[in-house]
Amino acid sequence: MATSLDWYGCATFALRAAGLTVFLDAYIDRAPNAAGTGLTADDVDRCDWIVVGHSHFDHLYGAERIARNTGARIVGSYETVRIMEQAGVPVDQMICVAGGETVALSDEVRVSAYPSQHSCVWSQGQMTQCDEVCLGDLGLTWQEQRARFEKLLEHLAGLEPSSREHLLRAQQGDRGDGGALVYVFDTPDGSVFYQDTSGHWSAILRDLRPDVAIVAAAGRGNIDGEPIQGSLAQFVAREVGLLQPRGVVLSHHDNWLPGFSVDTDVQPIRDELARAAPGTGLIDLGYIDGTRILP
Ligand SMILES: [Zn+2]
Repeated sequence: MATSLDWYGCATFALRAAGLTVFLDAYIDRAPNAAGTGLTADDVDRCDWIVVGHSHFDHLYGAERIARNTGARIVGSYETVRIMEQAGVPVDQMICVAGGETVALSDEVRVSAYPSQHSCVWSQGQMTQCDEVCLGDLGLTWQEQRARFEKLLEHLAGLEPSSREHLLRAQQGDRGDGGALVYVFDTPDGSVFYQDTSGHWSAILRDLRPDVAIVAAAGRGNIDGEPIQGSLAQFVAREVGLLQPRGVVLSHHDNWLPGFSVDTDVQPIRDELARAAPGTGLIDLGYIDGTRILP
């Protein structure tokens, strides 16, 4: 029995393992000017679980409809569950995690949650290409980061009208990222690490040894609460060096919100991986192509 992965764009995937369909995040609807699958969350007709990395709209928007249409249960942070309850999902259809829990998704598949970090979204306006080296911004207080974040909001307010309408529709009243989580799925075919934003705690990542790692490649990487002094490609390679998986899949690297995101050139990441993690192969996914990732 093989384990496969369908990419829906941004950091959303359908993981199919041991007869289960598990959505990793649920952001399927896109801004009108963003290329993608052309699907909406309402097109998902089969799902057993939705496992959510963090509460921002580009991860969570759509989970309320997939849960309603399929009866899928949601696993996510307390903030994710709060937003989904407001959106009409019954509380007994959801499981709150904060890191440290292992949830049995079936007799054969389990998922363990771990605390993580969000990318330093406050440090940039439009995202940069993954080989651009970013330095500085160390040791800032919450208030100083917040002041920088206001500039990002001004940037988003300047997006074209149809994108702004999409943002307004997708906002579900989140109070920030809600605490980013990473997950490790244990399946009969092997283990899969899942991350939906470019941040981590080093002491947690270095003890995980997944067979395949899904690693976010967008924005300014966050290492133990501070922005990486280097490029996003170097950040991704550092994470893969800590995890040492056989295969790595990128997430969040498509142009999901033109004017803010960028269409990531994967070659610099490939080059850094060859240097930092030569034993790991990059598994290139197109949209919804049912790529076999295990065994
Ligand atoms: Zn986010």
